[in-house]
Amino acid sequence: MTSWSDIFGQEEAVASLRQALLADRLPHGLIFAGPVGVGKATTARVLSQVFLCEKPKGDIACGKCESCRVFAAGAHPDFHVITKELIRYHDKTGKSKGIDLSINVIRPELIEPASRKAAMGRGKVFIVEQAELMNPAAQNALLKTLEEPGGRTLIVLLTDQPGILLPTVRSRTRLVRFAALDAALVARELARRGVAKETAAAAVELAHGSLGLALKWIEDGVVEPGQALIAQIDQLLSAHPPGDLPGWFRKSADEYAARQLDRDPLSSKEQATREGLGIYLMIAAEHLRGLMSSADDPATLETLCDMIEAIVQAETYLDANVNVALALQQLAVKMEAEVIKSE
Ligand SMILES: [Zn+2]
Repeated sequence: MTSWSDIFGQEEAVASLRQALLADRLPHGLIFAGPVGVGKATTARVLSQVFLCEKPKGDIACGKCESCRVFAAGAHPDFHVITKELIRYHDKTGKSKGIDLSINVIRPELIEPASRKAAMGRGKVFIVEQAELMNPAAQNALLKTLEEPGGRTLIVLLTDQPGILLPTVRSRTRLVRFAALDAALVARELARRGVAKETAAAAVELAHGSLGLALKWIEDGVVEPGQALIAQIDQLLSAHPPGDLPGWFRKSADEYAARQLDRDPLSSKEQATREGLGIYLMIAAEHLRGLMSSADDPATLETLCDMIEAIVQAETYLDANVNVALALQQLAVKMEAEVIKSE
């Protein structure tokens, strides 16, 4: 069972939630705002288990009741997690290019079950991952539920972009901030978990204060290719022959997918390739953003800005189910055009 002590480096957020639980003043609606992989989802799980527990000891779940038992087994009927994977599930035509969490997802997954009675009697919890993907219509539809959910209900919106949520949603929820973790702290934690020093240092650099990403990328074999990608981008920027960037992305995404399939033969190769590509695009964008903060001449800034835009565009294509090869091709064309322009 995951507990409060498993949440790493988020003392302030955790303390405010535990206080609210002890004082019995937990609001219906919470926004957990902070970077990816710093403990928002873990915290939401711990909080949910206490919220649903039949005999909590203050702010700690008992770990023994029926509710705790099914929660730990990952089968609690009143614990609902809404992810973007549900977008395709609710697409009746099967051709969804949608990347929004629309009302077609939020209604059946959150609004309707929130109005029904809890299956186990203690209440209901809804976690929305990447809540910034909820489009305005879906957010508006959620307002009434945030104000007056049916019975004892907890709704937690996880996001790294709280500013995208409508002011009306923000005013009906309490914002809990999760900070990026200190790099030295993440490195120490990785070492404590037995990660070799060099790998840990490289992972910390790639993951920018996110323990979750660092751990996942070590496990998924992303660290070494990620470093190679950064080197290649630097080379591209200094206008050396750029090499075959789309080819590199393709090959690395395929290797990522092969590794995932090795571990779980039932997973989808197409999905894993997209996921791998998404990770490398994100690493590239983060690296370019880092360079932007230290660049000072306008021409360099413009080049970096355009390259980031090209990557964001590729990410959008990827989310919208456009052919992977096509997304990469347009990225390469744009990037190489930047280099030529800057020469
Ligand atoms: Zn319990």
